[in-house]
Amino acid sequence: IAPVITIDGPTASGKGTVASLIAQALGWSTLDSGAIYRLTALAVLNHQVPPDDALAVAQIAEHLDVSFHVNGVTLEGQEVSSLIRQEHVGNLASRLAPNPALRAALLARQRAFRRLPGLVADGRDMGTIVFPDADLKIFLVADVLARAERRYKQLIDKGISANLEDLLADMRERDRRDIDRSVAPLVAAQGAHTIDSSKLTIDQTVQTILSLYRT
Ligand code: C5P
Repeated sequence: IAPVITIDGPTASGKGTVASLIAQALGWSTLDSGAIYRLTALAVLNHQVPPDDALAVAQIAEHLDVSFHVNGVTLEGQEVSSLIRQEHVGNLASRLAPNPALRAALLARQRAFRRLPGLVADGRDMGTIVFPDADLKIFLVADVLARAERRYKQLIDKGISANLEDLLADMRERDRRDIDRSVAPLVAAQGAHTIDSSKLTIDQTVQTILSLYRT
């Protein structure tokens, strides 16, 4: 069975970047589980399913026609890599995520990413629910202002206009939804190492995790 490193944490904690760099260093593959929730949200929008219809949303998740490529991901044959990064898609994903039937429908799909030589999986419940037997579990946190500032800088660098106050409010709202939900709430998994990335560079965070794995 392939080894797994899980990296869970709140939105914009740097999980995705850190997960890719660790996978690169080890020659492993990655699972960006947030992308799967975002793809579900996009399919819900495309098929005009009412977000409150828990069973219809779970059906969409169950039959999601996605395919991951080296350079992106397609949904029903359409290239959607940048579409799923849009704020309104992320926001809908966050609203859909508490639905237990939806989460159950996505379990097998996420576990199928586990293959040799290994997997780095990032999200909210990778260590608690999807891969409870992971070889190393990381809970990556950063204070909300540091996260909002990072997101602000990312958007400005991409030429997208942004407002720090709005980003901060949106991030607090998303944190609240991830933490307060009764199914798969965002908590450190049993045995997880908590790392606060607020005052670390990306490289320091990566090195810390690699040395935890190697010891
Ligand atoms: O991490 P990202 O922002 O791409 O995830 C989008 C949304 O999907 C999150 O706001 C979160 O509510 C949800 N999610 C989840 N469980 C995961 C990954 C993401 O509930 N493992």
